[in-house]
Amino acid sequence: MIELETFRGEARKWFADQNLPVVPLDIDGRFEVLRAWQRTLFESGWLGISWSTEVGGRGLSPVHQLVFNEELVRARAPQPIGLIGLEVVGRSIEHYGSDWQRRELLPRLLSGEDIWCQGFSEPEAGSDLASLRTSARDAGEDFVVSGQKVWTSWAKQAQWCALLVRTDRDAPKHKGISYLLVDMSSPGITVRPLVQMTGDEEFCEVFFDEVSVPKRNLVGEINAGWAVANHTLGSERGSYTVRRRAELEVAFDDAVAQVQSWSGGGRERVPDRVAAALGKAQIALQVLEGQTRKTIDRLVAAAGPTAEDSLDKLLLNGVEQAVFESVVDLLGPFRTAPNLAPFGLEAERWIHDHYFSRAVSIYGGTSQIQRNIIAQRILGLPRG
Ligand SMILES: Cc1cc2nc3c(=O)[nH]c(=O)nc-3n(C[C@H](O)[C@H](O)[C@H](O)COP(=O)(O)OP(=O)(O)OC[C@H]3O[C@@H](n4cnc5c(N)ncnc54)[C@H](O)[C@@H]3O)c2cc1C
Repeated sequence: MIELETFRGEARKWFADQNLPVVPLDIDGRFEVLRAWQRTLFESGWLGISWSTEVGGRGLSPVHQLVFNEELVRARAPQPIGLIGLEVVGRSIEHYGSDWQRRELLPRLLSGEDIWCQGFSEPEAGSDLASLRTSARDAGEDFVVSGQKVWTSWAKQAQWCALLVRTDRDAPKHKGISYLLVDMSSPGITVRPLVQMTGDEEFCEVFFDEVSVPKRNLVGEINAGWAVANHTLGSERGSYTVRRRAELEVAFDDAVAQVQSWSGGGRERVPDRVAAALGKAQIALQVLEGQTRKTIDRLVAAAGPTAEDSLDKLLLNGVEQAVFESVVDLLGPFRTAPNLAPFGLEAERWIHDHYFSRAVSIYGGTSQIQRNIIAQRILGLPRG
C-alpha cells in the first residue's frame, strides 16, 4: 500500500495543478458544477480511496481517505456533490450489498453518474424511525412499495434512493423493516421539493404509489433492514464528522483572516462579545479534533457503528453552530447586506452556511436523540 506521506504529496500536487471549480450559491448551478467536479475526482482516482477495487475504489486505508480530504480542504477545493452516496448510503451497500448491487451500482455512485438519496424519515417517523409505515408487499418477482417519505435530501436530483420499508406489520417494529434500493425513475414516484430557510430546495417529500422494485434490490435479508439502517446512520454521524471538522476549521480560519485584513488588522474593531464567541468556537473546534482522533481509530479498526458516533454528531453540532454564529457576528451590522463581495468578504456564503448550521442538530438524528443514546449506551443510564 502506498506510503501515507507519498500519497499526501501526490494529492497536494494534483490539487496544485487543478483549475478549481467556482461554485455558485444557487442550488441548480451548485449541483451541476459539483457533479462535474465529482467526475473529475473519480477519473483521477480520488474517489472511493478506501473502497475495494472490485467496486471502483482504490483499496487503500481509511487514513488515506482522511489524508486526501485534508489536502482537498487545504486546497480550498469543494466536496463532490454525491456525498449522501459516497459517505452515507454507499458504505452500507458496500458492506451489506449483494455482488450485483456492489458491482453494478457502486462504480456509478462513485463517478456521480448516479446521485443517491436516503429515504428514511416519514411525517410520523423521524426520531422514532422504527415507526415508519411506508410498506413493501411481496408480489412475486418484485416488491410493491406504497407510502410517503419526507426531508429526503437531493431526491429531486437523485437517480437512486436507499429506502426503509415495512415488510412485516405483525413483527415487533424494529424487526419488520427492510432496506431497498429504488430506481427513482420507476413509475409511481412523485417528488415535491420543500424550501429550506437557506432558500434552497434541497430536501423533498417523496410519494410512492404502488412502485415495483425488483427483489434483487433488497439489501441484506428481508426484515433485517434495521441493522443496515444503523450502519448508514453511523456513517452519517461518525466518519462524516471527521471530514466536516476539517472543513469547519478552514472556514473559520479563512473568515477570521478575511475580517482581519478588511479592518486593517485592527483588533479593536471586534467587540468583546464577538471576540468571546470566536474564542468559544476555536475551543470547540479543538475539542472536536480530539474526539475525531478516536473516530479515526475506530474507522481503522473497522469497528462499525457504535454509540460513540453519537458523541461525534453532538459535538459537531455545537462546533458548526458556534463557528458560523461567531463568523456571522463578525459582520456586525453588515450581516443584513445582501452581498459584501466588493469588500472581499464571502458574507453571502457565511450567512447561507450559518442558516444551514441550524439543521445539524436535526439531520442524522436530533441532538436530543444523540444525548439519549449517549446516556443509555455509554453512561448506562436507564431509559426515562
Ligand atoms: C437539512 C436536513 C436534511 C435531512 N435529510 C434527510 C434525508 O436525506 N433523509 C431522511 O430520511 N431524513 C432527512 N432529514 C430528516 C431528519 O432525519 C429528521 O428531521 C430527524 O430525524 C427528526 O425527525 P422529525 O423531524 O420527525 O422530528 P421529531 O422526531 O418529530 O422530533 C421533534 C422534536 O422532539 C424531540 N424528540 C423526539 N423524540 C424524542 C425523545 N425520545 N427524547 C427527547 N426528545 C425527543 C426531537 O429532538 C425534536 O426536537 C433531514 C433533516 C434536515 C433538517
